[in-house]
Amino acid sequence: MNFNTFLLRLGLDPDNFKNIPSDPIKTDKGFIYEIEQRTDQRECPHCHADKVYINDYAFVEIGCSENNEIQDTIRIKKVRYKCRSCHKTFTPEIKGINRYDKNTEQIKQLIYSDFARKLTFQDIANKYHLSNGRIVQLFDEKVKFVPRLKMPRVLCIDEIRFSEEINQKFVCVLTDFEKGRDRRYDQKPSDCLFTGILWID
Ligand SMILES: [Zn+2]
Repeated sequence: MNFNTFLLRLGLDPDNFKNIPSDPIKTDKGFIYEIEQRTDQRECPHCHADKVYINDYAFVEIGCSENNEIQDTIRIKKVRYKCRSCHKTFTPEIKGINRYDKNTEQIKQLIYSDFARKLTFQDIANKYHLSNGRIVQLFDEKVKFVPRLKMPRVLCIDEIRFSEEINQKFVCVLTDFEKGRDRRYDQKPSDCLFTGILWID
């Protein structure tokens, strides 16, 4: 694969990096891809002087696994400059990666699409080698608006199994007994055996 295409697939702008592809490093679980930030964009963001020099380098690692079995990582050699004029240090921003975010935009998109599948937060966390809390956080960021429904007169509570999934997790289902047609069963609620019925009034 072309080096630029490889970077674009990961949601990274090739313009950020030196075009020097290196062989991926094989680990027990996957591969480490090493890339280097370009060092010719030299303008101090604080005072806009162009008299800056390379102060040091730092390495950041970002997960880019696409499935449970393989743990792939991108290792970026980032450059830090120091300004001769204002003496402040800075690192040019890398497009495609939020500074405080450990995952590429591409992985986020994959996670978002998994929210629509029959997977629990924990399933998704395991798949991408992230914590359950991080997945819940991404869900909250993505799904900003959850409509509040009026409490029905009779509320049915049940749990169903994700029968198509391998790990057979149970999920809670709440249904309005009088109005609702449970989409998962595609039956009238009265045809289903509910484990709990809550009378509101
Ligand atoms: Zn400066």
